[in-house]
Amino acid sequence: MNYHILTLFPEMVLDGLNTSIIGRAVSKGLLSIEAINIRDYTAQKHGRVDDAPYGGGAGLVIQAEPVCGAYEALCQKLGKRPRVLYMTPQGQVFHQKMAEELSQEEDLVFLCGHYEGIDERALELIVTDYLSVGDYVLTGGELPAMVMIDCISRLIPGVLHNDVSAEVESFQDNLLEYPQYTRPEVYEGMQVPEVLLSGHHKNIEEWRRCESIKRTLERRPDLLKEAKLSEKEKQYLESLQ
Ligand code: SAH
Repeated sequence: MNYHILTLFPEMVLDGLNTSIIGRAVSKGLLSIEAINIRDYTAQKHGRVDDAPYGGGAGLVIQAEPVCGAYEALCQKLGKRPRVLYMTPQGQVFHQKMAEELSQEEDLVFLCGHYEGIDERALELIVTDYLSVGDYVLTGGELPAMVMIDCISRLIPGVLHNDVSAEVESFQDNLLEYPQYTRPEVYEGMQVPEVLLSGHHKNIEEWRRCESIKRTLERRPDLLKEAKLSEKEKQYLESLQ
């Protein structure tokens, strides 16, 4: 996977992503992360890329020319026109299924706005997907891009140490993950659930599914509508309700 981030703050995204698991995946060559400074594509003096909104109002709007210029230069270099994801509170709210779908792409462009956003014409010309991290407004698209890149990357084979760990996580099957425990067996008088020490894989599996269902009912009942449950699990859910 090759990520190309169009931003006014390249150091922000690079510093944030070149750490820990994602940083290691970059070193291993499983991913590449390139930050392209939109400012490098302006024809204006002093690297200016923004101006006042037509029609008045507060703030500044990033101009179309440097945004499109940065993208076109990238397309020339790559010899193709990859998908452009615009980070915006007006987009579809990002979720795990989208991450799975996006992880199949070879190249992804993340377009980060700042100030009041980007001239609508640039968006019409190059954006393929409008994505949000949630119903709140941030100062820039950099953190949303980092959130999505982190999430997509851990689905790419080899990025996590064992590929199964991405498979049985929260949102898989529309259930939250069961609680996890590690050493010691007793902490502050609290004992690790007996079944987890039993070594009995089938019982552990069953316990975990039940805990997932219980937890999802408590914390995110909205997810259960789409959850894939066996007949036995449906009965368990009913008994909880
Ligand atoms: N005036 C715009 C908000 C601008 S916020 C509006 O009302 O729609 C500045 C930039 O931050 C945006 O261009 C976008 O790239 C980013 N941003 C802010 N909130 C976001 C969110 N919830 N999800 C994704 N990107 C967001």
